[in-house]
Amino acid sequence: MGAAIGKTGFMRDYSKIYIDGTWVPSDGTGTIEVINAGTEQVMGSIPEGVPSDVDKAVAAARRAFDSWASTPVEERQKYMVRLNEALQARSAEIAEVISGEVGMPNTWSNMIQAGLPAGNMQSYATLLDNFEFEEEIGNSLVVKEPVGVVGAITPWNYPLHQIICKLGGALAAGCTFVLKPSEVAPLNAFILAEIIDEVGLPDGVFNMVTGTGPVVGEAIAAHPDIDMVSFTGSTRAGKRVAAVAAGTVKRVALELGGKSANIILDDADFEAVIPKGIFACYLNSGQTCTAHTRMLVPNSRYDEAVAIAAAAAGAMQVDDPSKEGMHLGPLISQAQYDRVQSYIQKGVDEGAVIAAGGLGKPEGHEVGYFVKPTVLANVTNDMTVAQEEIFGPVLVVIGYDDDDDAVRIANDSLYGLSGGVWSGDQDRAIAVARRMRTGAVDVNGGGFNIAAPFGGYKQSGYGRENGPYGIEEFLQTKSLQL
Ligand code: NAD
Repeated sequence: MGAAIGKTGFMRDYSKIYIDGTWVPSDGTGTIEVINAGTEQVMGSIPEGVPSDVDKAVAAARRAFDSWASTPVEERQKYMVRLNEALQARSAEIAEVISGEVGMPNTWSNMIQAGLPAGNMQSYATLLDNFEFEEEIGNSLVVKEPVGVVGAITPWNYPLHQIICKLGGALAAGCTFVLKPSEVAPLNAFILAEIIDEVGLPDGVFNMVTGTGPVVGEAIAAHPDIDMVSFTGSTRAGKRVAAVAAGTVKRVALELGGKSANIILDDADFEAVIPKGIFACYLNSGQTCTAHTRMLVPNSRYDEAVAIAAAAAGAMQVDDPSKEGMHLGPLISQAQYDRVQSYIQKGVDEGAVIAAGGLGKPEGHEVGYFVKPTVLANVTNDMTVAQEEIFGPVLVVIGYDDDDDAVRIANDSLYGLSGGVWSGDQDRAIAVARRMRTGAVDVNGGGFNIAAPFGGYKQSGYGRENGPYGIEEFLQTKSLQL
C-alpha cells in the first residue's frame, strides 16, 4: 500500500494519484494549483490526470468488484466504521484544509466540512444493521445487488461531504469506486485517500484520479466499464455528463443546482424567522446548492419584510476564514467573485433595488474573494437574479398576493432542490410544503437530517443520496421466480 505523500510545510503538494491501493504517478505531466480563498495564495498542487489514468483506475475497480460485492455486509460495515473513526481523528486538519480551499470559516468548517462527512459515513454503516437486501413478491425472490463500478464526480462547495454522500452509499451497497474530486478544492480528497489507505480497504475498492472535468470527468462518464456515474455539480456540467454517459447506457445520478424558495406566510413571526431565512441563504457565503435564495413574502407586508432582511444582512460579520467565529468567509475564487458581482449588477440593471450590501468588497477585506452580504428588493420572479443560481450571499425578496400565488412563484423555476415554509400554523405550512415541486422543504426551520433522502426535482437532477435511499441508489434488483 502506498505511503502518505509529499507535504512540505504548509504547502500540500500531492504528486501522485491513488489506484489499486497504491499511490502512483499520473500518466499526465501537468499539475493544478490550489488557491487559498482567504489569502489568494497557492496552498498546494495536485496531478492533472488524463484518460489513461481513468482506464487504470477502472480496471482496478473492476478487478476488485466481485470480491467486494460478495464480502459479508458485516465486514463492509466494519470498514465503514473504521473510516468514520479515522475521519474523526483527522477532523481538525480536514476542517483547516477545507477552510483554506473553500473559504468557510474554521468554526463552521469543523462542524460541517469535517464533522458531517464523518457522521454520514457512520450513518450509512449503522443503516446496514437493518438494511434488507432481499424481499419476496409473490413467487419471486427479489435480490438487491450492487450496481457495479461507480464513477463519482464531485464539486468544491462541500467537497468532502459530497464525496462521502456517494462513497458511503456505494461501499454499503457493495460497489467499487473511482473518484474525480473537484479540481478547485481537491486537497481534502487526498486526506480521504490517505485515510482509506491506512484503514486498509481492499485494493481497488477506492481509486482516485484528479484532474479537470472535461478531461478526467468525461473519461469517467464515457467509460464502458463503469456501470454508474454519480455526479454532483452544476446543471450545465450535469447535462454534459448525462449526454456522454448515454453512449454506454450506464445509470446516471445527478445532484445539481438550485434556486430554492423560502415562503414566509403572512402569519409567521417576521422578526424571528426572516433572520433565519437570511442564514439559510448565506451559509458558506451562499455557496450551497440548497440555499434559500428566493425569499417570498406577502405583498401586504413587503416593506416590513425587506427592512428586517436588510437589517439582518447588515448585521452579518464578514471576516478571515482562519479566524474562529460564526462570520461569513470569502467566496472560493476570483471567477466566483466576478460571477456574483455581475449578477448583482444584472439585478440592478433589471430593476432590483439594493436593500443591503451591493457591489464591491466589504471594507477592510480587499484580499480574499469577499462579497458584501446582499439583499435585492423589488425583484420579480422573471428577473435573471430570481431564475439563475448566483452562488454567493445574495438574497432576492419577491412579493406574493396569497398562498396560491406563493406556491405558483416558488414552482416557477427550472430548479427544484430545496425550499422552506414558515407559518404560525404548522398544518398550514405543511400543506404549502406539499404543493412545492422540490426535493426537500424545511418546515418552520426543521433541521437537516443526515438520513433523509436528498436530491432534486426538475433540473436539480435525479437520484437520491443519504440514508436508506442513498444505499438503494447504488443497488439494482434481480428477480428470481421460484
Ligand atoms: P461544476 O459543475 O463546475 O463541477 C462539478 C464537478 O464536475 C467537478 O469535479 C468538475 O471538474 C466536473 N466537471 C465539470 N465539467 C465537466 C464535464 N464536462 N464532464 C464531466 N465532469 C465535469 O460545479 P462546481 O462549480 O464544482 O459546484 C457548484 C455547483 O454544484 C452548483 O451549481 C451547486 O448547486 C452544485 N451542487 C449541487 C449539489 C446537490 O447535491 N444537488 C451539492 C453541491 C453542489
